[in-house]
Amino acid sequence: MILPKSNRLTPEQLVEVTAIVTEFGCQIQPIVGAVRTIYAIVGDERDELMINRIEGLSYIDRIDRIQSPFKLMDRRSDLANGSLTVGAVTLGRELFVIAGPCTIDPKNANYFYETAQAVNEAGAHMLRGGVWKPRTNPYTFQGDVKSLDILMEGARRTGLPADTEVMEEAHIQLALDAGVTSLQVGARNALNYSLLRAIGRAIAQRRDVVVLLKRSMHMGTLNEFISAAEYIAAFGNPNVILCPRGTAPGLDGYRNHPDESITPLLKEKTWAAVVVDPSHSVGKAIYVPAAALAAVAYGADGLCLEAHVSPSHGIGDDPKQALTPDVLASTIKRAKQLWTLRRDASSDVTVN
Ligand code: PEP
Ligand code: MN
Repeated sequence: MILPKSNRLTPEQLVEVTAIVTEFGCQIQPIVGAVRTIYAIVGDERDELMINRIEGLSYIDRIDRIQSPFKLMDRRSDLANGSLTVGAVTLGRELFVIAGPCTIDPKNANYFYETAQAVNEAGAHMLRGGVWKPRTNPYTFQGDVKSLDILMEGARRTGLPADTEVMEEAHIQLALDAGVTSLQVGARNALNYSLLRAIGRAIAQRRDVVVLLKRSMHMGTLNEFISAAEYIAAFGNPNVILCPRGTAPGLDGYRNHPDESITPLLKEKTWAAVVVDPSHSVGKAIYVPAAALAAVAYGADGLCLEAHVSPSHGIGDDPKQALTPDVLASTIKRAKQLWTLRRDASSDVTVN
């Protein structure tokens, strides 16, 4: 990672630096921040000759030599000094909450609008709703592009930014054109590297857009998870939020094996925000409030909660998974209180 002395390289300086790295078979990827731009060296950047030549340039401050499989998402990367603001919230300054139904029912838009209102009143910051849905059974409802308009109408009515899952390359531009703020990569696609690349490419210049990257239920290692985020960031936009959502096989009684406990481990390795999804993890609304609080206790920056005004009318995941508005509101309230308590407590105690 190249850090210039000024906030960014001039076009002439960029040409000079690019010429050097090209000689060594590498490329330059600018990562444009609000205040300064830093430059990732893409390729094998270990050649000391290349490093010395770049460091010798009068306008270069230094080169971050991070030996990491995910050098952009690595906690030691210069990107760790940035902050991510989504809608009204800067992550890390308050608990960030995404909520909404699993899937939008295009035939009953009012359920979505009513749920959106309940989500807003409960104190959430982003409205989720599935337009395209990955389903185990190919004969069940697979989603409907018509729901994209319903999602955006719910976002307009509440003033909340919208989150939806994109399952294939064609969905990305449709979602962006509609005004979706958060592209969700579902657990089943978290290892789909061509989709991750396509998303990275599409949002490279869109710092107003974030990616909510679910952990695959089959991802054993944290390196796999963070490297999936690196695939997206490598195109120039590092706004990737990591979302643990439970792994397979499920713990007897829970839908998946709850994994909120990986939060502090992720935070040791990466600067990325962690937004835990307890809904898909435990899979039943009765267990979600405790799992949500556990996630906050482990240091999560946010929560992603499934909710519906009338869960028995929900489509997509098991209706028993969705929180009713009153439980959603009490869960968010308690989770925010715990988040504040934890923040205040951790300023008294030095953890690592
Ligand atoms: C969802 O968020 O509704 C969903 C399908 O989640 P996951 O990809 O984590 O299963
Ligand atoms: Mn769901």
